[in-house]
Formats: sequence, structure tokens, C-alpha cells
Amino acid sequence: MKLDATDLRYVTSDEFRVLTAVEMGSKNHEVVPTSLIAQISGLRNGGVNKIIGSLAKRNLVAKVQNSKYDGYRLTYGGYDFLAMRALSKRESMYSVGNQIGVGKESDVHIVADSEGKEMVLKLHRLGRISFRTIKQNRDYLGKRKSASWMYMSRLAAQKEWAFMKILHEHGFPVPTPVDQARHCILMEFIDAYPLRQIADIPSPGKLYSTLMDLIVRFARAGLIHGDFNEFNILIRRESGEPVVIDFPQMVSTSHENAEWYFNRDVECIKTFFRRRFRYESALYPKFKRTLANEEGGEDFKLDVVVAASGFSRKDMKVLEEYMDEIKEGESEQLEDSDEDEEEEEEESDEGENENEFPPQGGKIDTGENENESPLQGGETDAGI
Ligand code: ADP
Ligand code: MG
Repeated sequence: MKLDATDLRYVTSDEFRVLTAVEMGSKNHEVVPTSLIAQISGLRNGGVNKIIGSLAKRNLVAKVQNSKYDGYRLTYGGYDFLAMRALSKRESMYSVGNQIGVGKESDVHIVADSEGKEMVLKLHRLGRISFRTIKQNRDYLGKRKSASWMYMSRLAAQKEWAFMKILHEHGFPVPTPVDQARHCILMEFIDAYPLRQIADIPSPGKLYSTLMDLIVRFARAGLIHGDFNEFNILIRRESGEPVVIDFPQMVSTSHENAEWYFNRDVECIKTFFRRRFRYESALYPKFKRTLANEEGGEDFKLDVVVAASGFSRKDMKVLEEYMDEIKEGESEQLEDSDEDEEEEEEESDEGENENEFPPQGGKIDTGENENESPLQGGETDAGI
């Protein structure tokens, strides 16, 4: 998604109120009726109509015609705007630069603070799959199902934030976390190449054991990365040291499939080193032995610490189930496109459109125009 970095300063405080009202209304309404938007924002009906029209023109909200009534919903652009406004207000970030990563579940941008110090903003984008297929989510989300893309994206950001913080505090090589709002996290910019882009290194054996040691260190602290591959390992340009990123799928070593996740992480590294650097080693970590040795390892359990930090087991479970579903969907797509069609038919039969991805086109501030910055007013960071 392109973040058009020109718009934040043109949002008036009334427009901000209306946008926040749409977000709040999304808690219980898939399509937020205009009357409810007026009520929440505390503005006159006529005034609201005009404002909402201008927000829609900028793709911060989208008009939806429902069978019963007309209304609006927040777009990803609107959600991005609210998150970035919160970060700007807290003076965590000031301007937005280039996009450096596009994933299926996130967009990554270079941003800067008011002194020009570069950072990385990761915007989580979950919500492309139906929640009706996921029992746990269905039970858990309840009415929130209507805003599930916002809810799941925020959950992913909160989880990633919780893990990044705890790992950083315990000296793991991860980016320094800076701030988090809604579905976004702000972190240190690592001047590095993804391992994926590295054709040659002086001593692959050394990096191989550093990475395997890291898997072991994670496990002894109670954690498995879960996506430990050449895309999520950055190699610092200057020192050649690895930095690990991307934590929304981390699992505890007490997870029922922990060994499977652990082995998959190990296997990713083995395979990559064999293919890319023609390096193979008889040495690689084994799950049971790693855990059996834990007396010699860390004396803390980070999975327990994270659970205590407010990111509940229930949240974790919901997110896990959702992510498994995404992965399953991906492999099904590769294996059998017929099945996919069947699934789609099934979806449309039910006549709902939870699958629909919010339209693109968010706009945010470059911070170029200091004097006109409207980054003020009450921030609610309304949770869904
Ligand atoms: P995704 O969930 O989409 O895979 P990642 O967290 O892996 O998101 O980030 C995607 C890409 O963005 C990475 O492969 C990397 O190139 C870049 N990136 C992410 N975080 C940073 C960072 N802190 N510093 C530098 N580059 C980063
Ligand atoms: Mg990644």
C-alpha cells in the first residue's frame, strides 16, 4: 500500500473526531450508520455529512450500502492515519519515507523523528481471510467480528511489540522497539541486508553456528521464533552480525507443537546454508536435548514474562489459529486451485463479505510543513 505522505496536516479537529467516531462505531457495527457517527462525534448531523464526505474522498472511510441502511466503515488508510497520528502526537515519529517491505501481512516503511533519525514503521495487515472458518475466533470475537481485520492486525502488532520488548531487554539481537499504536510498531532501523540477499560470506560455518546458537538461546528462554528464515534474519552491513525480526508467530516451547516449530526453524537454516553457501554440518540443535540442558541456559522464561505483560494466552491462541489458517490457505493455493474455487463458492453462498479487504489509499504526513501540523487534539487510541 502506498502511503501518500501529504494529508495528515489537512485533517481538521472535527474531521479527526468523525474519523475516531467511525472507528469506535466499528466495534459493534460492520457498517457504522451515519446517525451513530453523528452521535459519537457529538457534531450536528448536517456537519457530519459534509465532513464524512471529505474523509471518504481521501479514502480514510468508505461508504457502504447495506440492505438496511447506508453507513461507513474505516479503511486501512483511515486506520493507518489514526495510528500514525497517535505516534506523531507522542513525538515518536515525525515524517514518512520510502516503503522498504511489502509482505502479505504487513507493510514496512522508513520513517523519521523530528531530528531526522531514521526508524522503521511496520503496519500489520491481517484480515484477508474469513473468520467464519475459525472456531476460536468466532467464539472470541463475538460482535467484534465485524471489525476483525482491525482487531487481528492490532493483535499482531501488540504481540510483536510484547516479544520485541522482552527479547531486547534480555539482550537478544533484535531491533530496539520504539513505540506501538493500534496495528503499527515503530522500531530501530537496522542498516542491513536480509540474509536472503547475501550471495557469499567469508565464513558460512561461523554464521551457521551463530544462528543455531540463537535458536537454542530462544528455546532455553522458553521461545521458538516460528519463522526463522533468510527473510527474517538481517545481516548488519558493517559487522556482519545477524539481527532477528518478525515476531507475530512466536510460540512458547510449551506449545503442543513446539518440537515441530523448533525443527522447522532449524531446517530452514540448514536448507538455506546448503543451497546458498554449499555448507552442511552434522551439528544442529535437537529440541529435547536443548530443553533438557536448560539448567545451563537462561534462568528466565520469556514466554511466561510475555503472558504476564498483558498479552493474554487467549489473545495468543486466537492469533495463532488465525496465522495457521493463513499458512494453510497459502499451501492449499499452491497445491490445488480447484479446492480454492470451491471454498470461494462456499463463501459467497453465505452472502457475507468479511473477506473483503479494506480499500487502499491511506495518507499520512511527511512532516514537511512544520507550521501547519495539526498533530494535536485528544488521542483516544480507541481499541476494538
Ligand atoms: P513481514 O511480516 O511482512 O515479513 P518483516 O518484519 O519480516 O515483515 O519485515 C519485512 C521486511 O522489511 C524485512 O524483510 C526487512 O527487509 C525489512 N525490515 C523490517 N524491519 C526492519 C528493521 N528494523 N530494519 C531494517 N529493515 C527492516
Ligand atoms: Mg518477515
